Amino acid sequence: MAKKGRVFSGARPTGRQHLGNYLGAIKNYVALQDDYDCVYCIVDLHALTTAEDTRDLRQNTYEMALDWLAAGIRPADSIMFIQSQVPQVTELHLLLSMVTPLGKLTDLPTFKEKVRQQPDNVNYGLVGYPVLMTADIVLYKTDVVPVGVDQAPHIEFAREIVRSFNYRFQTKALIEPQMKNTEVPKVLGIDGKEKMSKSLNNHIELAATPEETRQRVMQMVTDPARIKRTDPGNPDVCNVFSLHKIFSSPEEVAMIDRDCRSAALGCVDCKKLLIKNLNKYFEPFRAKRAEIAQQPDQVWDILHDGAERARALAEQTMQEVREAVQLPV
Ligand code: ADP
Repeated sequence: MAKKGRVFSGARPTGRQHLGNYLGAIKNYVALQDDYDCVYCIVDLHALTTAEDTRDLRQNTYEMALDWLAAGIRPADSIMFIQSQVPQVTELHLLLSMVTPLGKLTDLPTFKEKVRQQPDNVNYGLVGYPVLMTADIVLYKTDVVPVGVDQAPHIEFAREIVRSFNYRFQTKALIEPQMKNTEVPKVLGIDGKEKMSKSLNNHIELAATPEETRQRVMQMVTDPARIKRTDPGNPDVCNVFSLHKIFSSPEEVAMIDRDCRSAALGCVDCKKLLIKNLNKYFEPFRAKRAEIAQQPDQVWDILHDGAERARALAEQTMQEVREAVQLPV
């Protein structure tokens, strides 16, 4: 079946993925494969801009790749690879940096946030983060980038860089990527307040064992106003209920909505049901993950093969780019 175009998305190698990564990105990556040629990149170079040390970089890359494969990324259909294994991206990054105003980069809210987060490590790479991201996207002649609303300014920025480059060098070598707005939920952590994130240690890993899942769910904060078992609860402010809406049947969701409000259902029983449903939902994922993990070399082979296919696309684009810039041949 003819595909609708090429999709690109990248994520930093953060190791074992959690429910937030799954619902916010991976699930969508898997679905997009039916309609698009997909290029999924583990952006290890981007990770270096904030990494305190790189000891876990390889292991985190492997674990993330394993999760992607177990979740349903099909390496025969999609290109799944590691950013640094396509050196053309660094060349394009440099060339794009020549048409990117420095002031715009330092004005970006994401840059300012990083400066606040790591005042002692405001490195050059951090400033160029969006330029490298643009290079990633355009190197593969990407048509569409799936983004949540919060990422939209980055894609708009990438489009501006592409326009500047094409205008400055009078070329059509680079394609302005389109945004595909994807409705993804913001998944809260077990604290019920902050976005689920590994760095906050408020996450639930997809690859957790049933027992680990049980322990994490049992720690989840529910409606803070519900103190005694006999107090009626408010599912609208309860993160356990948010997850039920995704992982439980419509009948169960209706029952919880009703019985929590009347206090017929307590938080412990409500959590037990979520544990059961989460473990059931991720059982095939976990089985597949365990099977793939028996041959770690296969994961690396898939990534190397992906890099080879990515390099072929990248080199084509770079030949046009070098020609446009009139770099001597
Ligand atoms: P990156 O910096 O590469 O975005 P993250 O690990 O923060 O790395 O996120 C990877 C993907 O998972 C992104 O698409 C992000 O939006 C999504 N994601 C991460 N945490 C959550 C969350 N709590 N809720 C929804 N989506 C999330």
